[in-house]
Amino acid sequence: MEIDGNTQLVGIIGHGIHYTLSPAMHNAAFRALGMNWVYVPLRVAPGKVTAALRGLPALDFRGANVTLPHKLEAARLSDELRGDAEVLGAVNTLVVEEGRLVGHNTDPVGFLGLLREVGAEVGGRAVALIGAGGAARSVALAVMREGARIIYVLNRTESRAHELRERLKGVDASTEIRVEKLDKEGARVLRECHLVVNCTPLSGEEGEELPLDYADLSGGKWAIDLKYGGVSPFLRRAAERGARVVDGGEMLVHQAAASFTLWTGIAAPLEAMRQAYREAVRRRGGMEAER
Ligand code: NDP
Repeated sequence: MEIDGNTQLVGIIGHGIHYTLSPAMHNAAFRALGMNWVYVPLRVAPGKVTAALRGLPALDFRGANVTLPHKLEAARLSDELRGDAEVLGAVNTLVVEEGRLVGHNTDPVGFLGLLREVGAEVGGRAVALIGAGGAARSVALAVMREGARIIYVLNRTESRAHELRERLKGVDASTEIRVEKLDKEGARVLRECHLVVNCTPLSGEEGEELPLDYADLSGGKWAIDLKYGGVSPFLRRAAERGARVVDGGEMLVHQAAASFTLWTGIAAPLEAMRQAYREAVRRRGGMEAER
């Protein structure tokens, strides 16, 4: 891919983004379709987000992804929020439209893509989320859309779980959202859940244990860890009890594909993006966490 005077620009705005696999996925997509576009890392320190976002239209960027810790600030600074960005109050994709910043959030669509890819069905079922941060909000919204009957939210900081509930409870009244303590007692609810999602950076290994009884994941339940690139100790221990386990890689690929379409207006070459993701993970040789 040769960069010239007509190359269209997109990128990822974040702080400490040395880990990001997004350039690998998006540039592979542009190559696969022969598009004169490039995706670059845009390292933006806290305090510089306003200047960086205002710079996007000024530099004729077509848009950008936004990652930690800037997703909430990007929502505040957007000229308009659309779809899930408005529901979540967080932006992971900006599109420059006639000089204005339009904020979107493709993380819920990314999680839906993962569910469909692996064939996990949550309609009418109970789901448990461990964690209540930004990713948990996106997962909660996705499983609501899929018709989950009840979502249990277990979080170290209980007030944050209540905030998640307050933000999302109006989206679909047919899904109940219930807050439980993140301890062995609270985690008993996992027994009745069809799907359990680890939305924390905790791996489940010694020193990073999740306070749950893995026996409660037996019987063909789904266990998903949002971290990607392999089988975390959480997933390994769930699999030993007979759970079907999945890492967060497909969520990453599908949220990237949805961002690609927002910028370009065309369907993303999903397989090329997936291959680029897998190669990058192989090169890196282990689990990583992308936000
Ligand atoms: P946030 O910082 O918004 O939330 C982190 C969550 O983890 C909070 O609920 C926090 O609890 C909890 N947590 C952190 N440390 C501990 C601990 N020591 N003990 C108990 N709970 C803890 O992060 P995100 O929601 O954005 O990301 C969460 C995970 O999901 C990360 O691993 C991230 O990489 C991954 N992710 C993967 C994506 C993908 O595409 N595959 C997309 C987005 C995220 P508390 O509220 O008490 O602080």
